[in-house]
Amino acid sequence: MSFAASLAQSIAGLNAAQQEAVNYMHGPCLVLAGAGSGKTRVITHKIGRLIQAGLQPEQVAAITFTNKAAAEMRERAKSLIGKSAKGVLICTFHALGVRLLRQDGSVLGLKPQFSILDSDDVTSILKDAGGSTDAATARQWQWAISLWKNQGLNAAQALAQASTPEEVSLALLMARYEERLSAYQSVDFDDLISLPLKLLRDHAQVRERWQNTLRHVLVDEYQDTNASQYELLKLLVGERGRFTAVGDDDQSIYGWRGATLDNLKRLPEEYPTLKVVKLEQNYRSTSAILRAANNVIGPNPKLYPKTLFSELGEGEPVRVIDCDNEEHEAERAVARIQSLRAGNGETPHREWRDFAILYRANHLAKPFEKALRKAQIPYKVSGGQSFFDRAEVKDLCAWLRLMVNNNDDPAFMRAITSPKRGIGHTTLGVLGGFASQYKLSLFDSLLSHSLGTVVSAKTLASLQEFGRYINDLEYRARHTVGAQASLTFLLDWLKDIGYEKHLYAAEDSEQVAAARWSNVMDFCEWMAQRTGGQIDDTAGVTTAAETKTMLEVVQTIALLSTISEREQDQNVVTLSTLHASKGLEWPHVLLAGCVEGMLPFRMDDEHGAGHEDALLRLQEERRLMYVGITRAQRSLAVTWVRRRKKGRDYIAGVPSRFIAEMALDKTTVKEDPREKLKALRAEFAKRAADQIQAFAKNGN
Ligand code: ATP
Ligand code: MG
Repeated sequence: MSFAASLAQSIAGLNAAQQEAVNYMHGPCLVLAGAGSGKTRVITHKIGRLIQAGLQPEQVAAITFTNKAAAEMRERAKSLIGKSAKGVLICTFHALGVRLLRQDGSVLGLKPQFSILDSDDVTSILKDAGGSTDAATARQWQWAISLWKNQGLNAAQALAQASTPEEVSLALLMARYEERLSAYQSVDFDDLISLPLKLLRDHAQVRERWQNTLRHVLVDEYQDTNASQYELLKLLVGERGRFTAVGDDDQSIYGWRGATLDNLKRLPEEYPTLKVVKLEQNYRSTSAILRAANNVIGPNPKLYPKTLFSELGEGEPVRVIDCDNEEHEAERAVARIQSLRAGNGETPHREWRDFAILYRANHLAKPFEKALRKAQIPYKVSGGQSFFDRAEVKDLCAWLRLMVNNNDDPAFMRAITSPKRGIGHTTLGVLGGFASQYKLSLFDSLLSHSLGTVVSAKTLASLQEFGRYINDLEYRARHTVGAQASLTFLLDWLKDIGYEKHLYAAEDSEQVAAARWSNVMDFCEWMAQRTGGQIDDTAGVTTAAETKTMLEVVQTIALLSTISEREQDQNVVTLSTLHASKGLEWPHVLLAGCVEGMLPFRMDDEHGAGHEDALLRLQEERRLMYVGITRAQRSLAVTWVRRRKKGRDYIAGVPSRFIAEMALDKTTVKEDPREKLKALRAEFAKRAADQIQAFAKNGN
C-alpha cells in the first residue's frame, strides 16, 4: 500500500474530533483534552496530513517536550509518511532555538560555533564571578538569574527594576555573567529560548524568513510551555497563526520551573479565530484506572471542564499495596511484576517492557534497582542522572567543545586539567589574570607573544603545546567523516592524552575505573555513529540524512540527554520519575512512594510558605499524581510505606491523601477480607484527614 493510502486509512481510524483537528489546517487550532485521549496522535497524523495537502516537509515543525518524545514522534511520522518525515523539523523548543541561533545568531554577534554551557558550567562561572566558593550559594544565584531571564529580563533591565540591595547586587552579578558568556562565545539553556526570541523580535528580515519557511508549527504538551516559549511560538507563526497546540491543563507539572497555564488562557484572547477541539474518549486506560484518575483530579479548580470516558471495560481494580519500608516496597513491586509477567490462564504472558515503576524523586529508585538486580530483571532508569552528567563524559565533552570553540573558557579549564598535564592552579591563575587584563580568551592568551613575560619558559612551552594539540585535533576532526574513521580519531586522541590511565589512577577501586572507562567507550562509539549518517537526529533535530564531520557532531552534544533514552524498544522494565513519565504509557504501572510528604511532596521550607502558595503547590502535586495514574493502560498499583527514610532518619509513613482521593470502591481489593479492608480504608482516611489538617495548619 502506498503511504498516501495508508495515511488516509490511519486518519480514517481517528475519531471525529481528532479528524476535525487533523483536517483543520488554515488557522490556529487548540486541542484541549484529558490524558490518553489521542492528542499526541493528532500531532503525528497532522504532520502527515499537512504534507499530503502540499506542504514541503521542511515547512512543518513539531515541538515536543523532550528529546525522547521527539525521537518517538519521528519514528511514528516515518511509519505514516515514509522518508519525507526526515525533512520535518521535530524537536524540543531548546533544539529549535539552537537551530535558529546556528543559522542566524550572527545577527546578534554570535559565532555559528558557539558553545552551550550546561548547568554545572554556569554554577562555576557564577561562583567565580560572584566570588563565592560555595556551590549552593552559586546555584541560588543561578536559579534567580534564570527566573529573570525567563521573564525576558536582561541584567540592565533587572537592575532597573531591582528594589532591594540583594536584588541590586544580583543584577550586577548577572551583568558580569553576561559579559563572560559573550567573551566565551557561549550561551546557557535559558538563552536557547531568549536569544531566538530577541532575534525574531528585533530583526524583521530574519523573522519573515522563518515565518515563510515554517508554514505550520505543532506543539505537544502545550500546558507546560513558559512565557518565553509562547512568545517564541507567536513570532514563529506570525499573524497567520498557523499552528496546532495540544495540551491538558490537568497535566501541567512544570509550574515550579516557570511553565504557566496563562499560555492556555491567552490563546483564545490573542487568536480570536482559534478553533478549539475537545477530545473525550480515552484510548489508553481501563475504566477502573480512569475513574481513579478523575477522582484525584476532581478537587482541583477547573480551568476547562472536561469529560473523559473509556470503552476498554472496567478492567482490573486498582491495588493499594502497603509495605513495611522501602526495601519491602521494592520486593513487593518485583513480586508483582514477576507474577503479572508470568500471566495465568486468562491473561497472557507479558514482556518486561510492559512494566514501569514511577516515583516522585530520583533517589527513590535505589531500592527498586537493587531488588530488580537481585531478581535478575533487566531495567533502565530514565529521568535520572544523565549519561552526559558523568564526570568522564563531561571531561571528554570539554575537550570537544574547546576544539569547536576556542573561546569556551569553562571547557578550556576542564580540558587542560583532565587529565592533569603538569599545569597547576597557580599557572592557570596567572593565565586567567593575563586573559582578563588583555580581554582575551584563555586559549588566545596561550598563543599571545607577551604571555612569556608572566610565565616561565618551561610553563610557556607546555601551555603552547596544549594549544597546538587542540588546533591539531580540530583540524583532524574537521576532516574526519564516517563512523569508522571517527572512532579511530577518538581512540587515538584518548590514547594521546592517556585518559584510560588517568581513570585508573584517579579511582581507588579498579571496578569503578573500569565502569567509567566503559562509559567512555560507549560515548566514543555513539559519537562515531552519529557522523555516519545512520543516526540522523542531531540534538533532537531531524535533518536530511547527511553525513557529518566529527566536528559538526561535536557542536551538538551539549543538548543531548541520555544515550539510553535513545535506545528504544529495549525489553526492560522502566524506572522513572513522574515528571519524566509525561506523555508515555505502559500496560502495567506501579506508583511507588505514595506517602504524605513525598507525594504530595513537602519541602522543608514549606512551614514558612503562605497558605496560597501551599495550595498551589498541592494542586500541582495533584496533577502530578493524575499524570502518574494515567500512564497505566491495564493495571495500576499504588504503594506506600509505614516507615520511610528521610535524610538519615526514619519517620512514620502516612498514606498519601491522594490514595483516599482515588475513592477506590469495594471491588478494588476484592480478594482481601472485606472487614479488614474497611478498617484499613477508615484508617487511611483518618490519617489523611489528620495530615491535611496538619498541612493546612502549618501552611498558614
Ligand atoms: P497524554 O495526555 O498522556 O499525552 P495523549 O492525549 O497524547 O496522552 P496519545 O498518547 O496520543 O494520547 O494516545 C493514547 C493512546 O491511545 C495511544 O496508545 C494511542 O495510540 C491510542 N489512541 C489514540 N487515538 C486513538 C484512536 N482514535 N483509536 C485507537 N487508539 C487511539
Ligand atoms: Mg501526549
